[in-house]
Amino acid sequence: MRPINSRPSPNFDSRQSTVSLLILHYTNMPTAEQALARLCDAASKVSAHYLIDQHGQITQMVDEAARAWHAGVAHWAGLDDVNSASIGIELDHAGHVDGQMAAYPSPQISALVDLSRDIIARHHIAPAGVLGHSDVAPTRKIDPGEALDWRWLAAQGVGLWADDVRVEKVDTLALNAEGPAVAALQKTLAAYGYGVAPDGVYGPQTQAVVSAFQRHFRPQNIDGAADAQTQSLIYALCRLAKS
Ligand SMILES: [Zn+2]
Repeated sequence: MRPINSRPSPNFDSRQSTVSLLILHYTNMPTAEQALARLCDAASKVSAHYLIDQHGQITQMVDEAARAWHAGVAHWAGLDDVNSASIGIELDHAGHVDGQMAAYPSPQISALVDLSRDIIARHHIAPAGVLGHSDVAPTRKIDPGEALDWRWLAAQGVGLWADDVRVEKVDTLALNAEGPAVAALQKTLAAYGYGVAPDGVYGPQTQAVVSAFQRHFRPQNIDGAADAQTQSLIYALCRLAKS
């Protein structure tokens, strides 16, 4: 295992449940030092268990046994207290600028893989339980962003990915669509874990959830519309997660 620096943060309390999720973030700050200062400042009331800088140096801020304050208002698989059920890792990254984001440096991603594999093994986290902040807070967050290569991570044993999915011939569902196809899509997204109610109306919440899904699983085109490829991926991933 790599050497891990320690920089304790006061921003934690007691877990109310066992760990079943690993949630990845970007810091959205210019430097790792600035991010660490914020995440360890009692006034900020935010933290994470780990931060990985662009060189791959890992710093631990909160013990894994404690609840770090990284997810905020979030939902996944019926859980509202996502912080209690998760380990949080912050990736040092400046975030989106004018809708674009820089690639994550490979030393940083190598360290992410090493640390994540270790966490996943120790806490028995399922592949579908490795998520981005945007997956659990789709109306508020877009981190860690589409530049994170989730496909490659999954090939390294970190997360779930659906390869070679056959695209069914179905109509695109988008904002203001209504009906059974929308309800079926919502049910599948909810079965995967996303926080969406199957009311059969493609409203802003559904659009945000589909955008979050695309940011993770179909990063080439994040438009919030469930086109045939997006729908096929959602159904395929749901089948994979249950197999
Ligand atoms: Zn975040």
